[in-house]
Amino acid sequence: MMPMMGMQPQIILLKDGTDTSQGKPQLLSNINACMAVVDTVRTTLGPRGMDKLIHDSKGAVTISNDGATIMKLLEIVHPAAKTLVDVSLSQDAEVGDGTTSVVIIAGELLKEAKAYIEEGVHPRSIMKAFRQASVYAVEQIKNISISLEDKPLEEIKVLLKKCAMTTLNSKLVSSEKEFFADMVVEAVTTLDPATLDLKMIGVKKVQGGGLRDSFMVDGVAFKKTFSYAGFEQQPKSFINPKILLLNIELELKAEKENAEVRLDDPAKYQSIVDAEWNIIYEKLANCVKSGADIVLSRLAIGDLATQYFADRGIFCAGRVEAADIERVFKATGARVQTTVNNLDPVALGTCAKFEEKQVGAERYNLFTGCPHARTATLVLRGGSEQFIDEADRSLHDAIMIVRRALKHAQVVPGGGAIEMELSKFLAGKALEKKDKSQLFIEAFAKALEVIPRQLCNNAGFDATEILNKLRQKHALADGSGKNFGVDVNSGDICDTYDAFVWEPSLVKINAIQSATEATCLILSVDETVRNPKSEVPDAASGAAAQAALAGRGAGRGGGRGMGGGRG
Ligand code: ADP
Ligand code: MG
Repeated sequence: MMPMMGMQPQIILLKDGTDTSQGKPQLLSNINACMAVVDTVRTTLGPRGMDKLIHDSKGAVTISNDGATIMKLLEIVHPAAKTLVDVSLSQDAEVGDGTTSVVIIAGELLKEAKAYIEEGVHPRSIMKAFRQASVYAVEQIKNISISLEDKPLEEIKVLLKKCAMTTLNSKLVSSEKEFFADMVVEAVTTLDPATLDLKMIGVKKVQGGGLRDSFMVDGVAFKKTFSYAGFEQQPKSFINPKILLLNIELELKAEKENAEVRLDDPAKYQSIVDAEWNIIYEKLANCVKSGADIVLSRLAIGDLATQYFADRGIFCAGRVEAADIERVFKATGARVQTTVNNLDPVALGTCAKFEEKQVGAERYNLFTGCPHARTATLVLRGGSEQFIDEADRSLHDAIMIVRRALKHAQVVPGGGAIEMELSKFLAGKALEKKDKSQLFIEAFAKALEVIPRQLCNNAGFDATEILNKLRQKHALADGSGKNFGVDVNSGDICDTYDAFVWEPSLVKINAIQSATEATCLILSVDETVRNPKSEVPDAASGAAAQAALAGRGAGRGGGRGMGGGRG
């Protein structure tokens, strides 16, 4: 038996009926399982990638082009292949884009490693060289990154818009990429530059209308909450209103469902009712005394209170969602009150304008011109729920990218250009090595070509021909070809920097580092212990892809039949 185990001694307790596999066959079967997963997402890469329609085990349907979303929904149970799901999700969480690329790169690194492992190379030699190659690659990305800093805001906005458009290219909403790129850039540049707090961008989805009916509110917006009859008599717009935020109920017990008062003496009933009315009237009077024009509460505002406010020209909304209250609080400076006794006027917030506005079939409360924190709300419109959901995810990616670009302001040319350049660079580095790491660094270099190759395949171009052209450009001694990548419009190559196909350097750095780490993790495991009793049979029947992947050494074919075409 070859000594393939890890360096640390491992203690494994086996239950009766437990089945183990070890060593090289197990490692190779893990790699195969991972490659099957990679095959399900590889066709989504790039602007010409296909979308996937995924049925999950609960019967819900999602249409997506987003690597992380697809990986999450595949319900992968194979322990090694799960690593790829994790890496995709963490890429999403950390940088918000490059979630498909990271999985594809990891898959290609594994494929390269597999050939050597079959020949009997120890995985640790490969891992060491891959990690070294990853360090070289990251250094090189930093060297060739182009900085957007020190440019005026208007110019930066134009550049940011190009970045957002590159992200939106590959999405379902690509037909409206310019419209949404503008919106995303406006929203992100509205935020406080010191924090760029994403929580200050609210996204609201209103079904109906077309994509182009979506709009941005320079402030806080939320759907009109449930209200009582008197609500219609309340004023629906204010200039410079005073805003009171509450976390208390303004509702009588009798107005509540399931309210129960137990009494032994019926005569007490009236006194309890009177006491309750006195309490609520006192609370309401305190609200009015504070000078508030608008009263918002996390909790219910009942019939009586609604009428009371209406009679006094005050607008109110109860059961406002916590996230919305928080944004109103940050944007208007109103502090959330848990009692209305002795209200301090400084606890009230304000904004330039408040209005209630009809959006499709819904009514929205809009607070604009907020003095305290800069915040924006995107109201998304669209025909179907799945469509708006995907639009939401796509905008999230674009928002993350613009935010990253604004924070770091370092970009590299996309369309496979950066990968080709890194590949060339690493091939050169490999030649400097005198030991066998030369082979593995070369393998790493070769693996990076998977990105331009896949972009070609997904667009239906001759990948071999285009890759030859790209290699030739990137090999030019004067460096004039370093920005050349795949031109998805012409089926040829172009300078993708000039074509504004840009990506934040951070996305690439994170993708290469994470893909390397995932590969090394998978290569370092050569034993799987499984206990048949712990396997739930119906968990495996959920998705076709999953069934194919759940078996050990799953072959190809994971997720076939999920292709969702795009016009
Ligand atoms: P990921 O989840 O990895 O971001 P995408 O489906 O968004 O996957 O595809 C990203 C890839 O597509 C990147 O390599 C990017 O440079 C490339 N890309 C995006 N727009 C274009 C374009 N207009 N021309 C060529 N390549 C593009
Ligand atoms: Mg992307």
